[in-house]
Amino acid sequence: MDVIVIGGGMGGLSAGIQLAARGARVTLFEKNERVGGKLNVWSDDGFLFDTGPHVLTMLWAIDEIFAAAGRRLADAVDLIPLDTICRYHFPDGATLDAPADRDAATQAIAEFAPGEEQGFARFLDYARRVSDATTDPFLRNDFGASVHGAPTREQWGQLREFLALKPWRTLRDVVREHFSDPRLRDVFELYALYSGSHPARSSGIFATVADVQWRQGTYYVRGGLYKLAEALVELARDVGVSIQTSSPVREIIVKNGRARGVALENGARHYADAVVCNEDTLAAYKSLLAPQSRPHYPDRKADAVETSTSAFLLLLGVRGEYPQLAHHNSFLSTDLEAEFGSIFDRHRPADDPTVGVACQSVTDPSKAPPGCSNLFLMTNPPALSDAFDWTREAASYREIVLNKLEAMGLKGLRDRIVVEQMWTPLDLQSRYNARRGAVYGLSSNGWRNAFLRPPNVCPDVKGLYFVGGGTHPGGGLPLCALSGTNVARQLQANHRREFPS
Ligand SMILES: Cc1cc2nc3c(=O)[nH]c(=O)nc-3n(C[C@H](O)[C@H](O)[C@H](O)COP(=O)(O)OP(=O)(O)OC[C@H]3O[C@@H](n4cnc5c(N)ncnc54)[C@H](O)[C@@H]3O)c2cc1C
Repeated sequence: MDVIVIGGGMGGLSAGIQLAARGARVTLFEKNERVGGKLNVWSDDGFLFDTGPHVLTMLWAIDEIFAAAGRRLADAVDLIPLDTICRYHFPDGATLDAPADRDAATQAIAEFAPGEEQGFARFLDYARRVSDATTDPFLRNDFGASVHGAPTREQWGQLREFLALKPWRTLRDVVREHFSDPRLRDVFELYALYSGSHPARSSGIFATVADVQWRQGTYYVRGGLYKLAEALVELARDVGVSIQTSSPVREIIVKNGRARGVALENGARHYADAVVCNEDTLAAYKSLLAPQSRPHYPDRKADAVETSTSAFLLLLGVRGEYPQLAHHNSFLSTDLEAEFGSIFDRHRPADDPTVGVACQSVTDPSKAPPGCSNLFLMTNPPALSDAFDWTREAASYREIVLNKLEAMGLKGLRDRIVVEQMWTPLDLQSRYNARRGAVYGLSSNGWRNAFLRPPNVCPDVKGLYFVGGGTHPGGGLPLCALSGTNVARQLQANHRREFPS
């Protein structure tokens, strides 16, 4: 059984490794000079930066990739549990630490906003129920594909349990039901941005982030998150995946309604029994499939699907340390509602954005020269559109971000910069073929985007499968890893005779 994987992001690596471990001959073509996709790195003058994820959650989802090859994630990378999940810096100067320990977090909330700790306990219980009800039926199954077809009896049962959680309530409804302090409401509404969505338009089931953080844990990987990509490359090689970098795919070859292989930009053609595509699903539909091969997503329909937010990044190697920073920080907007309105209605980055600041050198001194810090600044602008021109406006947006952080206590930030790199949504689009520069593929605003994402099994072309943030179950490293697990399982089931028994 020959399988071609297009793209070496988390989804492509996960599927490729698990298919090779089951006996398939896998060739992975990656357009860039190294794999990892949005999980990537940049370094300069002794400063090392992850350019994408800074924390790892739901370890079990990634561990399954290693388990498929008889290995363990914990042996492949050095996992460091973060004692403080995030330090929140509010515009009024107050700060709130979110300790990973549930009792310590309850205590911190009780001191910050007395009385709110009871709501927090109930919020965590709701989040746990959501995790329990959704992990197997939703995350581990190609829910989209099954609902596109006729649900089985078992699926109807699972759906009933899911509906008992009232998933039609928005994240905002759920947060407001549990918290009355406006600052805590802001903190928990920010969960919507973890999937690039709006808290009043995405489902309350995204409260599950609290369960992921407090029951399952938040981790850093010593040396940086890219160590995970390196460990996956080693694992891929061990199970026999052939990784071809600097090999952009131009077209998926389809004959008689079946995927037969790929054509590379350099003209070379490679044939296989099945193709797994890790390019953003809707982008790939448009760029890699001929129009007659894609009735489910003709251009107009694909263009209309709302993307998740994008990212604006400043990677700053700075002299000195800022003792007020934890590993992971969030400097909140003075008006979160205005920020969401700007992103999702005006399609422009907010004038006063919430800024995520990761400082890995707090946990891992190897990331910066002695006495220095590696600061990763991230805001959540909308995906690319005509409403904002990054080629003209990026420099002034950089000023907004730096002014805000200097005003909120990072004194002299500009003067301390030794090395710097700025990434706008245009970089995400061009580096990774991310549709409109989106971080998580589709937004999870509304039912269709959250629960009926483009399915893992292509409905239009036999033998074509999709993995990664643009398909089911969604964006973020663990869900992309699970999409690979789901695809490996379904591909083997659909091609049973071609796999070694
Ligand atoms: C700034 C930032 C911060 C983030 N923070 C977190 C976090 O803290 N925790 C978390 O879990 N997640 C985080 N994420 C999200 C996470 O990084 C992504 O959801 C995940 O890495 C996406 O994986 P993917 O499988 O969708 O593939 P992608 O990362 O999208 O990779 C796709 C790969 O396919 C390649 N490719 C595309 N088209 C072609 C083609 N035609 N031919 C050959 N190759 C092609 C691309 O070059 C790329 O390598 C963050 C993302 C960003 C950008």
